[in-house]
Amino acid sequence: MPDIRILVVDDEPDIRATVSAMLEIEGYDVAEAPDGAAALAAIEQRRPDIILLDMRMPILDGWGFAAELRRRGHQTPIVVMTAARDAARWAGDIAAAAFVAKPFGYDDLISAVESARPPS
Ligand SMILES: [Mg+2]
Repeated sequence: MPDIRILVVDDEPDIRATVSAMLEIEGYDVAEAPDGAAALAAIEQRRPDIILLDMRMPILDGWGFAAELRRRGHQTPIVVMTAARDAARWAGDIAAAAFVAKPFGYDDLISAVESARPPS
C-alpha cells in the first residue's frame, strides 16, 4: 500500500515512533505530527488518506484538530488512539471512523486502520 498516506498525530514521541514503525512494516507511507496545530500544517503540505489521532495533546487537542479539519472541508477518515476507558466515547465525540484503545498491539492497530481506509 505504498500509495496510502497516513498522518500519525500524538504528543508522545515513543508512541509516534512505535505506530509509525508498525505502519511502515505494512507498507503505508507515514508522516508524524506532535500536536493538532502541527497536524493542520502537515495536511496542507501533503494530504493524508487517513489520520491517526491522539486526543489529549498540548497546543491543539484532538477535538480542536478534528473540528478545524472538518471546518476546512476535509473529509479524511480519523482513527482515534486513546486510553481504553475513553476510546469509544471520544471517537464518538468527533465522529471518528474507528478507534484503537491504548495500549494496543500490532494487530489492533492495523485492523483499525484497515477499517477506516476509504474504498479504493
Ligand atoms: Mg497525548
